[in-house]
Parts: sequence; C-alpha cells; structure tokens
Amino acid sequence: MSRKIYLDNAATTRVKKEVIDEMRSYFDEMYGNPSSQLYELGRKSKEAIENARHTVAEFINADDKELYFTAGGTESDNWAIKGVAFANKKKGNHIITTKIEHHAVIHTCEYLEKFGFETTYLDVDKHGMIDLEQLKSSIRPETILISVMYANNEIGTIQPIEKIGEIAHEHGIIFHTDAVQALGGVRINVKKQHIDLMSMSAHKVGGPKGIGGMYIRKGVKIDNFIHGGGQERGKRAGTEGVQNIVGFGKAIELVQRDFDEHVEKLTAMRNKLIEGITSNIPDIVLNGHPTARLPNNVNFSYRYVEGESILLLLDMEGISASSGSACTSGSLDPSHVLLATGLDHGTAHGSIRFTLSEETTEEDIDFVIETMKKIIEKLRKISPLNK
Ligand code: PLP
Repeated sequence: MSRKIYLDNAATTRVKKEVIDEMRSYFDEMYGNPSSQLYELGRKSKEAIENARHTVAEFINADDKELYFTAGGTESDNWAIKGVAFANKKKGNHIITTKIEHHAVIHTCEYLEKFGFETTYLDVDKHGMIDLEQLKSSIRPETILISVMYANNEIGTIQPIEKIGEIAHEHGIIFHTDAVQALGGVRINVKKQHIDLMSMSAHKVGGPKGIGGMYIRKGVKIDNFIHGGGQERGKRAGTEGVQNIVGFGKAIELVQRDFDEHVEKLTAMRNKLIEGITSNIPDIVLNGHPTARLPNNVNFSYRYVEGESILLLLDMEGISASSGSACTSGSLDPSHVLLATGLDHGTAHGSIRFTLSEETTEEDIDFVIETMKKIIEKLRKISPLNK
C-alpha cells in the first residue's frame, strides 16, 4: 500500500482505539437513557456521564458542576456568546473579540449585531498576537464579554490568556475563551487563568465528533441555549449522547496520561519540520508566533504559488494537509486569519498548514520536507507570478 501521511490534525484526529473500545458497550449493552433512574440500565448511563465529567473537569481544574457537555466546539462558542449577551443585555451591549477567531465566534457576534449588540474585533500583529493595550482601551462601561481564543486553529498562536482574564476581571467583564485547539496541547487551569467560560471539542484530541464541552464558572450569568428537558442540570437539554461523552472522557484521560511526553515529542517534530522547510525552500513566510505556538502546528506561505495546487500535489504523494481552516475550505477567499496578520492576498493564498499528531514519525517529516521542496520548485517553474 502506498504511504499515507495525515497531517491535518487541527481539522480532526483519528479516534483512538482505547476510546472506541470504551465507547462500544454504550451502544448495545449499556444503552439506557440516563434520565431513567428507576432501573440499573439508566443509572449505569448516568454514572458513565458523571465519570467522564469528572475526568474532563479535573483536567482543566474545574469543579464537576461547572462542566457541561455540548455537541462540540461550535455549539459551545454559540452558547457562550449568545448566552452571555442575552442574559446581560440590561448591563450592556458591547462584546470584544478578535479578528482571528473561528467562524463559530465571528459569525455569532455578527448575528448578535442584528439585535443591537456591538462588537470590537481586536487586531493582531504579524505573529497573530493581540495587543493587551488595545484590549484595555477597547473596554467601555457597557462591555459585557471578552472572547479571545486560547490558540488559533490556522497559525497556532497562543494568546496570553491569564493576562486577558486578569484584565477582564479587573473590569467586571465575563471572559470566554475558545480552547478547541489548545485542549491537549497546552496546560489549562481555568481557575488560575481567570477563565469564566471555555469551549472544548472531543474530535481534536482523539475523541469522537459531535461532542464537546463548556466550562461555566459558578455564578456566571448566562442564558440556557438548548431548551427542553432537564438534562445537564437544566442548562442544556436533550438526551445525552452517552457513548460520545464516554469517548470524550476516555480521550481526555489519555491526553492527561501522556501529556508531557506527547508535547515534548510533538514540539521536537514541529521544530524539525519548520527547520527543514526553512533551510530547503526560499521565499517563504512562517505564519504564527515563533515560540508561543501550538506544539503540533506548522504553517508557511510559499510565495508565487497557490495553496490549492500544493495540496493537490501533496495528496498525490499521500500527504493530507490544509490550505487554511478546514472549516472554510471550499471557499477560495484567502483566510481571514492570515489577512489579519498583514499578509497580502497573493501570499496568503500560498499557505499550507501541517498539524502533527503522536502518530507522526521522523520519517514522515523527512518525506514531507523532500516532497515540499520538489512541489514548490515544480510549481514555481510554471507560475506566472514567479518573475
Ligand atoms: N473553534 C476552533 C478554534 C476550531 O478550530 C473549531 C474546529 O475546527 C471549532 C471551534 C469548532 O469545533 P467543532 O468542530 O467541534 O464544532
């Protein structure tokens, strides 16, 4: 069989074998509805949910009661922003976020603007970092929410979350962070980092798709998002996807177990790929922060070539990568994240993101460097942009 190298782990990850094993019995043996507390089958399901809740909550230093299961990162982002906006509208109508958020945040803020809310979109520097002074000067008496992503999905830049949390709390403002990409790659401590609300997703960390979590600090004023039955302490209705919740819990248990070793290995491999590309290919730009970046993210722009063409040639060599955010692929607009870092349209179009996993080997990295070198040379030879 020809070689297959999957380097698009920011889009999604393979569900780990141990996770699938753990989930399996919740389809056909322990299939009870967790709300059916009068018999054992239902009680077992409920117990499984509470065990998973404890695992995830402990991992981020939250209390179990502060952790809610949702259908994923998108739902958590929607809930955090709409929930805080509608619950606090008597206090104010202003939200601060950034120009590089995931569309789950940006489009939600745009939606709220139709209801009289106002949004400030903070700039980022060329490394994708926000400016804390601009954050402070954007705060108004009517600011009710600051939403800044923990780490960016395209360029991997990690924001100074604890400082942002401190600033928010000095002004009595609720602080939400989208930690979908950070979970598993950085140590998160919601209490220490002054986080009030945090979005998470299982399929980025070896868990199943369609399940995520939201941390809600005790006492934060937020509306319910999904109305219906009394599940998730009445805050998020709908019969729980028990098998998915169990899978999320197991995925986090594995992340926790292997964390230091995993991050160290990924960082070494990431650096090898960055160095290999930098020393073999001229006329490139490293996107994202040189050091404050996710351990598995490598994103470069290759001048005079199109990202889509690179992806096609990579695919022919069995390498899967991304030319921007997977969630926006299908659209040929340059990535809003890369444009916010100041790249021109042409350069932004020539960008490729590789995101590694613990399955990535040294040989994979060597092969990718060799292949990229050949592909870029080939495309530049035929590129009308290459003078
Ligand atoms: N937020 C970020 C930063 C993401 O990268 C993603 C997915 O790529 C999401 C939110 C959406 O998460 P989900 O796919 O679980 O809805």
